[in-house]
Amino acid sequence: MTHRLVLVINGGSSSIKLALRKQGSSKPVFEAQAERLNTPQASYSFPGGSECSLPDANHQDALNALLPLLDAHLDQPISAVGHRVVHGGEQFTGPRLINDEVLAGIEANAPLAPLHNPANLSGIRAAMKLLPDIPQVAVFDTAFHQSMPPHAFRYALPDELYAVHGVRRYGFHGTSHQYVAHQASLLTGRAETAGAWLSAHLGNGCSSCAILDGKSMDTSMGLTPLEGLVMGTRSGDVDPNLHAHLARTLGWDLPRIERLLNRESGLLGLSGLSNDMRELEQARAQGHGGAQLAIEVFCYRLARSLAGLAVALPRVDGLIFTGGIGENSALTRALTLSHLAVMGLHVDPDRNSALKRGEAGRIEATGSPAILVIPTDEERQIAEESLTLLDRQHLEMETPA
Ligand code: ADP
Repeated sequence: MTHRLVLVINGGSSSIKLALRKQGSSKPVFEAQAERLNTPQASYSFPGGSECSLPDANHQDALNALLPLLDAHLDQPISAVGHRVVHGGEQFTGPRLINDEVLAGIEANAPLAPLHNPANLSGIRAAMKLLPDIPQVAVFDTAFHQSMPPHAFRYALPDELYAVHGVRRYGFHGTSHQYVAHQASLLTGRAETAGAWLSAHLGNGCSSCAILDGKSMDTSMGLTPLEGLVMGTRSGDVDPNLHAHLARTLGWDLPRIERLLNRESGLLGLSGLSNDMRELEQARAQGHGGAQLAIEVFCYRLARSLAGLAVALPRVDGLIFTGGIGENSALTRALTLSHLAVMGLHVDPDRNSALKRGEAGRIEATGSPAILVIPTDEERQIAEESLTLLDRQHLEMETPA
């Protein structure tokens, strides 16, 4: 069987990232990215190459410069372009072949992700123009969580806000949670997607998820990615009355409060030092009180969220750590697990600290449910989902009704 090539594109508000992936492979064939788009400092770079300046380039200019770099790595034509799209609302419950209806749907969901969806659309439109003959697929961060039951996704607000205005919990990081849960099933010798998992995706953004047999049952992020866990610069859950309190007592307006909660809080706000876990671990080791507090709050709140999510499952087969912090910080894993003995979860300290960067492994003590560290690979998941969708559509076209 030939292993096909998929170009995965992640369009951000000021950046675009490309990854050429081969089906079934855990390593990218080639990666490149352009940053600071629409500014005089715009540039692109790729591993092993020096940074090239592209003053005032937009998404299409950047893609125009990056696509020729792929040529040296193509042993066959590209079979699909897979685009990461942040918000698919309730409309998109899985990957979709991009056409006018899907473009309109992504645009219609932009009020729910005002920074991300328009940026994703810029990447999609640029790729459609430059690669018009290759099928383009949208893979949504929210789609995996569309299996949540209403008692998990509804807020206790008047019905009209949901029915008319779409105010509900959506959840994000779906591609990552889905990927690591699948890997957990494989690593523990289960069939394809079987298992009841708690998963913690801990990067700059952080979310937890309860997954049963490949379906998201509940997750910590909500209408927006601000809800839930403590993150790098995001507060996660706060009293919903905080907005009113800050407006009344400090006279702060909405943009000021949004900046506080999204950019100045989380690990950065608590520590007064940094949003970067590596830096905080070093500072903690040198006795920095803010760093110590930030890490403690981060781990305690994570444990509380995981314990809460367990009620969405009939049992817990295991807990998965992923994302830059989950994969690399033995301290975060150990402190979080120190709060979860009530669930029978016990870490083996030696296995926890011996795990090498980039490696998947099991770190539970004897008798504990599985505790897994699994490097996430959202691009691989996007590539595989894009190909599965194309294969399904071919089959449907070939099978008479
Ligand atoms: P993003 O959400 O931007 O993809 P990542 O998944 O790369 O982010 O995670 C970034 C976080 O991972 C940062 O807080 C970083 O400090 C942390 N991290 C990376 N390596 C380590 C390490 N060895 N020890 C502790 N934290 C780490």
